[in-house]
Amino acid sequence: MNTHLHKSPFLSLAVAALAFSCMITTAPPPEAATERSSDHDILSYFESALNSLRYPPLKLKNHSSAVQVAKKSAADEIARIARGSDFVKWIKFVRRAIHENPELAFEEHETSRLVRRELDGLDVGYRFPLAKTGIRAMIGTGKAPFVALRADMDALPIQEAVEWEHKSKNAGKMHACGHDAHVAMLMGAARILKARENHLKGTVILLFQPAEEAGNGAKRMIEEGALEDVEAIFAMHVSHLLQTSVIGSRSGPLLAGCGFFKAIITGQQITSGNSHHSSDLVLAASAAVISLQGIVSRESNPLDSQVVSVTFVDSRDDPNVSPTSIAFGGTLRAFSTASFQRLVKRIEEVIVAQAKVYKCSATVDFFKDSDSIYPPMVNNDLMYEHVKRVSTDLGGPANFQVVEPVMGGEDFSFYSEVVPAAFFYIGIKNKTLGSVHSAHSPHFMIDEDALTVGAATHAAIAERYLSERAL
Ligand SMILES: [Zn+2]
Ligand SMILES: [Zn+2]
Repeated sequence: MNTHLHKSPFLSLAVAALAFSCMITTAPPPEAATERSSDHDILSYFESALNSLRYPPLKLKNHSSAVQVAKKSAADEIARIARGSDFVKWIKFVRRAIHENPELAFEEHETSRLVRRELDGLDVGYRFPLAKTGIRAMIGTGKAPFVALRADMDALPIQEAVEWEHKSKNAGKMHACGHDAHVAMLMGAARILKARENHLKGTVILLFQPAEEAGNGAKRMIEEGALEDVEAIFAMHVSHLLQTSVIGSRSGPLLAGCGFFKAIITGQQITSGNSHHSSDLVLAASAAVISLQGIVSRESNPLDSQVVSVTFVDSRDDPNVSPTSIAFGGTLRAFSTASFQRLVKRIEEVIVAQAKVYKCSATVDFFKDSDSIYPPMVNNDLMYEHVKRVSTDLGGPANFQVVEPVMGGEDFSFYSEVVPAAFFYIGIKNKTLGSVHSAHSPHFMIDEDALTVGAATHAAIAERYLSERAL
C-alpha cells in the first residue's frame, strides 16, 4: 500500500516505464455521458472497465439471540486456536522466514514456494500459478457461497535499517510495508479454517497475490480467475497508527485513486538574440505548472479531497539557449472515480492550452497502458459492518476503531470494483518495541503479537460470512 503519498513519484514514473497499470471504475459518473462523445483515451479506457461490474445482491443475517451465542462461541474457539503456543511459534516462523527473504513484484518465487509448502502441510488445495507467483487456495465445501481473503506478498526496493535477528538478507530489498505479516496472517487463517472446515457453510478462497507495490498484481490475479465464483472479499493491512492488534476501518472511501502524468512541451528553439522569432518553452512550462495549481484549489469541491502535484521538471541547463522540449509531471489523487476522471481531463486541457498561449505544443501521458493507476478503495457498507462486528466479537468494542481516509493507494481496490469488499487495518504500534515507523520507512517494524489476532480476525470474518449467508 502507498499509505501517505509516500510512493516516490520519481520511482513511480521510473516504474511506469517498466510495468504500469490499468483501472476499473465503480459507478458511471454523471459527467461521463458527455465525456464519452470525445475520443479522450483515458476516459474511454476507464469506461470500458465498467463492464466488469457484477455486484450480487448480498444480505447477511445474524440477528436471533441463539445465532449470536453460536457465533460468539465460534469466535472464542477461533481465538483459542490462534493463541495456542504451537500456532504462535509457527506463525512467527512463517513471517520471519518471509521477512528474511524479501522479493520484489512478480519475483516472489521463494515466498510463493513457502506458502505452497505450508498449504501442502495443512492439506489445503490450491491453484498455482496465477499472475506468475500468485496462489488461489480453497477451504470448505467447494460449493457456494464463496468468500475470499487476500494477502499481498511483495517487498520494496529499500535497504532495511532495523538491526535484528531476522533482518532482510537481500541487500536493497525489505518488507517495509508489512506484506510478510499479511502472508503469515493469511496462512494462520488457513490453519484455523482447516481445523474448522466442518463448520464452514460454503468455501473460503485464500488469495496470495504478487506485485501490490508495483505492477498491479491484483488486476492480473482477477484476469486469471482469482475471483471466480467469489461474491465478497476482505483484506487486511498492518498500520503503525493503531495500537497492536486493534482493527480499524471505515465505510465508504478509505484510500484514494492514484495516477501519474508526464507532460512534454515542445516548440521552436530560441537563443538570447532572436527570442521574438521563436517560442519560450520555459515560460510555457512555468505557466502550465502554475495553472495546474488552480484545478484543485479553484475548481474542485473542497469537501471532496483531491491532489494534483507537479513533482519534477526536466530540461537542459544551457543558460544561453532555451531547450526544444521540456518534460514535467507528477501525481493526481481523488476519492471517487468521477473526480479522478475530471482531474485527468483538466490536467491535459490546462497543459495543452497554456502551451498554446506561448506558441508551443504539449502532450500529456497518463501511463494508461502500464500499471500505475489505482482506483479509489471504497469499502462496501455491508462488508465494513461485517468486519466491525466480527472484530468487536473477537476482542471487545475497544478492539475496533473508525479510521480517517488517507490519500494513499492500494491495488486491492481492483477487487472492490468487481465484488463487495472491505479493506481494514490491524495495529502493529508498540512504543516499547519501537514499531512506530510508517510503512515504506527503512526503520519500519511490526509488533508480532498482532499476527495471531490478524489470523483469527481473517478466519472469523470468512467463517461468519458463510454462516450468515447460509441462514
Ligand atoms: Zn506499501
Ligand atoms: Zn502495503
